[in-house]
Amino acid sequence: MNRLDHILTDISAYHPAADTALVQRAYEFASKAHEGQTRRSGDPYVTHPLAVAQIISELRLDVASVCAGLLHDCVEDTSATVEQLTELFGKEIAFLVDGVTKLGKLPWSTREEQQAENFRKMLLAMARDIRVILVKLCDRLDNMRSLHHLPPEKQERIAAETMQIYAPLANRLGIQWVKVELEDLAFKYTYPGEYEQLAEQVAKTRAERLDYITTVERLIHQEMTANGVPCEVSGRAKHLWSIYQKMKKTNRAFEEIHDAIGFRVVTDTHMHCYAGLGVAHQTWTPIPGRFKDYIALPKPNLYQSLHTAVIGPKGERIEIQIRTREMNLVAEYGIAAHWKYKEGAALAAEQEKKFAWLRQLMEAHKELRDPTEFLESVKLDLFGDEVYVFTPKGDVKALPQGACPIDFAYAVHSSVGDHCSGARVNGMIVPLRYQLRNGDTIEIITSPNQKPNKDWLKLVKTARARTKIRYLMRKEQREKAIVMGKDLIEKALRKHGHAYGKVVKEGTLDAAAKELKLADADELVIQVGYGKVTTAQVIEKIVPEARGKAEPAADKPEGVFRSLLRRVTTRRQSTSGIKVAGEDDIIVRFAKCCSPLPGDQVMGFITRGRGVTVHRRDCDKALDLDPERRVDVEWDGASKTQHEVAIQVMCADKPGLLAVISQTFTDQNVNISQAHCRATDDGRAVNTFKAHVKDLDQLKSIIRALSRIKGVYGVDRVSSETL
Ligand code: MN
Repeated sequence: MNRLDHILTDISAYHPAADTALVQRAYEFASKAHEGQTRRSGDPYVTHPLAVAQIISELRLDVASVCAGLLHDCVEDTSATVEQLTELFGKEIAFLVDGVTKLGKLPWSTREEQQAENFRKMLLAMARDIRVILVKLCDRLDNMRSLHHLPPEKQERIAAETMQIYAPLANRLGIQWVKVELEDLAFKYTYPGEYEQLAEQVAKTRAERLDYITTVERLIHQEMTANGVPCEVSGRAKHLWSIYQKMKKTNRAFEEIHDAIGFRVVTDTHMHCYAGLGVAHQTWTPIPGRFKDYIALPKPNLYQSLHTAVIGPKGERIEIQIRTREMNLVAEYGIAAHWKYKEGAALAAEQEKKFAWLRQLMEAHKELRDPTEFLESVKLDLFGDEVYVFTPKGDVKALPQGACPIDFAYAVHSSVGDHCSGARVNGMIVPLRYQLRNGDTIEIITSPNQKPNKDWLKLVKTARARTKIRYLMRKEQREKAIVMGKDLIEKALRKHGHAYGKVVKEGTLDAAAKELKLADADELVIQVGYGKVTTAQVIEKIVPEARGKAEPAADKPEGVFRSLLRRVTTRRQSTSGIKVAGEDDIIVRFAKCCSPLPGDQVMGFITRGRGVTVHRRDCDKALDLDPERRVDVEWDGASKTQHEVAIQVMCADKPGLLAVISQTFTDQNVNISQAHCRATDDGRAVNTFKAHVKDLDQLKSIIRALSRIKGVYGVDRVSSETL
């Protein structure tokens, strides 16, 4: 059977009334349109849309989605147009193809802001018709499957993007198998050394594991049926990425990860799920704190199941998930499961209701003007587990793991959050930094005088709270800047014999603002307040005859932040290797928290009294700084300065390994300036090295070399503050 026939058979199986002739036509159109084009592998191009359509049919999506999968690259890569597709295949399919094409055109890799903006567009597209994203996910899955044909730089970029955006999206949409496959593929290209080592270890123990799985499966099945719970039991090893995450999180070697195998019990009714849980707990000792009831409290992606962990038949910890067949379908197919036999518009409303989190996500971010922050907070919402807590009235709220009462307050209402002064959890007063636990009942204490402050940003975990807090803090700073800016301009004008009020009234200040490419006089005042525009620049526009005349020295430093900038006028050429937008004589220091290297994406912040501090774009600390203080900085290619970085190497605690590691540094021509080595109780060693490198490429190459050493479990760039 050829691939197309496969797809047609699949569709007819889950949707007997499907219009397979339409799918056939879509295939013929795509195959003609892509005629003569080949993939990197040398295969005819049409094999890609075919593969994508196949994945879509595995997700059991409707005919329109399958057709869109076949046609998804036509508009982008061939002479076909959206109009043509509308005419031939109807509005719906053309809309889907158009949506996928637009998503594909977003240049993800360029800048972080760009990336964030694109992500926002993607979520918007998803909110309009979620099938666009589902088709895109399938497209990405096939691209990841054939990633080995691409050059290494591309592999790295696409894998990173998959890990950051697509896998979490698949997870959020509840499509477990796509998430798992995307993660393992991305893992393979992001940490090739670690991946290979782990894959090898898993393969080595395969026979033994299969044996064990069969035994335990049989045992569970036996106990369940003996107690009146009809079921199917299946066990499987967790995927590599999740084992790797677990190893890193618990700081353990592969051999010590005992719950790498999960067992799934699929039964018929809710009652049998709970009965099955009882059987499991009666037969084996449950591990406290590991039981979760996602049947009563489904995850926002609609996932339902009972989870528990017990000391299994061989004295090892095992994880057991118990669910009904429907729940199992939702667990595997997520949102796609809801398509099954339904088509058309009725779905849209239902879909929207069930995926309310999507709309909430969009709403929470409307106020975020800064795309970088948007991306960061969306990531926060996409990743992570939830805790379920209650309002005093018994309404349940799902919040991310680690959330505090402030998050809860904002989840209730933004005014409750803004004035949150304390909280009572289960009747007891707790500090605001208290981490919410499953089942807590929370009552927020408000006070009219309370307002958000900077420290709250360190506590909160939800995008919503973070956004609201930043918004208010920024508003306050803006107000301060207005007062400061007005004061500065007023004084400067007075010196030249002009009155502020008059200049404003006559529109001269507005005109000056326009000349400086700012919206209006108000904006100009604010910019002067922040120190981004100097009064000298303003005066020059308003009092042209003052141009070129030296400003009195005392007037030089100004603005809320720039007032404290120290200038080094004697040194024209920057030696830091950093160029600050428009100024080359500013003191630059590199933030210790993230130690940026040439090649890293960076941003600068004006710091009181210390010039400009340069952070990496993805630095957590930098994201909490006021964006108004941000200045554009870029690497000055010519610099040859060495930069300090900290590298953490996790390895087996074996004699001689440290020598190999240190030799690797030497081979790479990198000097270790400080080292800290610590053996853990479980036979591993954590080594942290401080070293000086030229740039990001050199750091990457040393990390690669270290990862390849036998016995090394993981290599990470860490904050130099950890040493
Ligand atoms: Mn494609």
